[in-house]
Amino acid sequence: MIDGGSQQPPPGTPQPAGSGNSGGNGPPLIATASPAAPGPGGGGSGGGDRGRLRLGDLLVDQGLISKDQLDQTLGDQKSSGKLLGELLVERGLVPALVLVQTVSRAIGLPGCVLRHGLIDPALLPLIGKEEAERLKAIPMFKLGQTLTVAMAEPQSLPAIDTLHRLTGCEIRPIFALQSNVLEYIKKYSGGGSDIDEFLTSLGERDVEVVERESVDEGPSTDLAAMVAGSPVVNLVNVAFLTAVKDKASDIHIEPDKKGTRIRYRIDGVLRDLMKAPAGMHAAIVSRVKVIGKMDIAEKRLPQEGRVRIVAEGRDIDLRVSSMPTLLGEKVVVRILDKSNLRVRLEHLGFRQGAMEAFRRTLELSHGLALVTGPTGSGKTTTLYSALDLLRGPEVNLLTVEDPVEYQLEQVNQIQVNEPIGLTFARALRSILRQDPDVIMVGEIRDHDTARVAVQAALTGHLVLATLHTNDAPGAVSRLHDMGIEPYLLSGSLNGVVAQRLARTICPSCATKYYPSERVLEDGGLADKVGRPFRKGAGCRSCHDTGFKGRVGVYEVMEVTPELRRMIHLQKATHELREQMKRHGGLTLRDEGVLIALEGKTSLEEILRVTQSDDVEELIKQASAAPGAGAVPVKPAPPVPHQPAAPSSKSPQTPTQTREAA
Ligand SMILES: [Zn+2]
Repeated sequence: MIDGGSQQPPPGTPQPAGSGNSGGNGPPLIATASPAAPGPGGGGSGGGDRGRLRLGDLLVDQGLISKDQLDQTLGDQKSSGKLLGELLVERGLVPALVLVQTVSRAIGLPGCVLRHGLIDPALLPLIGKEEAERLKAIPMFKLGQTLTVAMAEPQSLPAIDTLHRLTGCEIRPIFALQSNVLEYIKKYSGGGSDIDEFLTSLGERDVEVVERESVDEGPSTDLAAMVAGSPVVNLVNVAFLTAVKDKASDIHIEPDKKGTRIRYRIDGVLRDLMKAPAGMHAAIVSRVKVIGKMDIAEKRLPQEGRVRIVAEGRDIDLRVSSMPTLLGEKVVVRILDKSNLRVRLEHLGFRQGAMEAFRRTLELSHGLALVTGPTGSGKTTTLYSALDLLRGPEVNLLTVEDPVEYQLEQVNQIQVNEPIGLTFARALRSILRQDPDVIMVGEIRDHDTARVAVQAALTGHLVLATLHTNDAPGAVSRLHDMGIEPYLLSGSLNGVVAQRLARTICPSCATKYYPSERVLEDGGLADKVGRPFRKGAGCRSCHDTGFKGRVGVYEVMEVTPELRRMIHLQKATHELREQMKRHGGLTLRDEGVLIALEGKTSLEEILRVTQSDDVEELIKQASAAPGAGAVPVKPAPPVPHQPAAPSSKSPQTPTQTREAA
């Protein structure tokens, strides 16, 4: 391998042993080739005379090699055309790792010694073998839009520009020895055989999991840990880490004919995260199952697992679920990020008036406070934030949940277990014997649960619960339907929050625009003509969706004495709504439009998430307008961008809508 090394050092090396000479003893740190001999793999880019530290000096200064060794190697380097560093490593004078560490410390960039396991082989085709060799760079892994690349010359801006152009990714350079980089380009450009190689190298050790699995903190803070595992471990780590960083709610790992498809759900929408090459699926699934403490041998039955990890310094619960499919097992990992939970009520997106109304319902020592909305509308988060507000040493707080999504301090949480008969209703009855102050019921789904919850509210407890209805006034008729007598409900209900989650506009591509008159009129917002709204144009940062993150839209119905009377009299839902509005309550649509006017989200998004309002609105108008075609025709499902049928245009709605400040 080394042929230059066998030669005798020529007498009289050009650089005298005196270290600090302007001539320097050795090439600059990064362009480690001898400027005189840019031979094979020389890559001796210039810049050697810009007064940078010289590698040889540095190694001598640090006592890693002697001056004699340096001088001798420098001499051989001339004739061999090899890089000084590489020669030193070849000769065993400096271990590769030490050399890498020395250089990376000096240039202030991370460095690594490449080996199987640090490189995602699927990435090399992004730049191709020839360019990789020319640039002396090999992609290691991709995290979102950031590509980490091992480079022999990580400070070469032209090389980084080229990599950026070829891949469309932000480039994060990492120093590696040139011979090491070239070696792995060769290995990974040879086709799929290396995948088999590293799969067979996947030993037991690689799929061992510690009691408390810790996903490392990512390349920015702890590269060493990131690259320490096998390719499969890395890939899974990267997938988990990316999902946590991007605040995804789920990761989907599914087999397809070409390999493994990994997607994740962000802001309610599934997106491709990465693709793993064919042949890795079983290993990836096994790794995830090991993390989830599941049985990796059982591949024919669905399984569930659960684990806590620390990622990005945050405590995160993972729920792993596996399911056999035709092509192999599909795994879904639900990410429950507790730091999201520490969101205080004030941070959920309540507008001032709605927030105050909701707080008033929580300040009462007893009664029923409900949060309603469809699945995935953030009801549980709202309840947890309410609990966060209420908990304290002087309060006995108990919950019945299915499932317990987050563990809360100072809260006694009970998991419903139907198979053994621990239902919501039964757990609730037991809770009442535990001297509770505040009780949270995950969901009221049946008569039994509704009855016990109402009784608890009537007997001096504050009861929080979720219910599946579209709007706040609808909760009343829903509970009637569940068999709760009006007099019980009127006596116990404090307030109802109905909510939706609307995607917020991506700050990187937000633009101002004026919706067409038609859209506004169709949405019942004729008075908003000429008012500017915002939307996202779509950019890389938001994956071209124009949205990033979500905000809650809340309709709060505080039960006033008048409303209480109306509930007792079993008034219709639309009448309750009218009363709510008279008392200053805003509907979901009204709240949403105000949020859109504030520029947090787009009008179309609000019309989309509040579209179920339209049906109610139509019914209300039909029944309110005398002689107007008595029975409302159920409108076709609204199209997201033009949500309402023209007939929903109501003269009332605009005047009821408050202007944003
Ligand atoms: Zn954007």
